[in-house]
Amino acid sequence: MRRKLAAVIMLLVMAGVAWAADMVVITAKGKKYHRPNCRTVKQFVKELTVDEARQLGYKPCKVCKP
Ligand SMILES: [Zn+2]
Repeated sequence: MRRKLAAVIMLLVMAGVAWAADMVVITAKGKKYHRPNCRTVKQFVKELTVDEARQLGYKPCKVCKP
């Protein structure tokens, strides 16, 4: 039972990492892009890829290191 749970958690973590790897969010006022789960982001205005964020002149957040 416990082993099965660990396997499920592992899958979720891996899916989460794959998803978080190239999708980032930006906020209304900030000039940084963040992972969607960054603790400094309370509300984001747009979800985009890292490449798009860079092209728009955003820099990576130092807290969540996207
Ligand atoms: Zn952040």
